[in-house]
Amino acid sequence: MTPVFYDNAPGYKQIDRGWIVLCATPDCTGAERPRIGASTMTCVACDTTWPITWPVDRADIERVLADRPVPATRAWLPTETVADLAAENAAHGIAGY
Ligand SMILES: [Zn+2]
Repeated sequence: MTPVFYDNAPGYKQIDRGWIVLCATPDCTGAERPRIGASTMTCVACDTTWPITWPVDRADIERVLADRPVPATRAWLPTETVADLAAENAAHGIAGY
């Protein structure tokens, strides 16, 4: 499991800022907010424990996303690189990109 960064993304408005991990159990829509660096997460919806693989460039991902003025746009998917996120920032005219 790789965490996905959301910051006030739709459906997660109770989360001020942080990483969430989506449960990988088929048909489960559970998601948990693990401590940064936690090695596992247990989904409370289906009671399954999954290992977590944190991105090695987590700090860079957080930095690029934090520069976005609209919190709902601060999302990252495991298929996206830091360069991808920076290019999106540039395409939207965010200063410094
Ligand atoms: Zn689950």
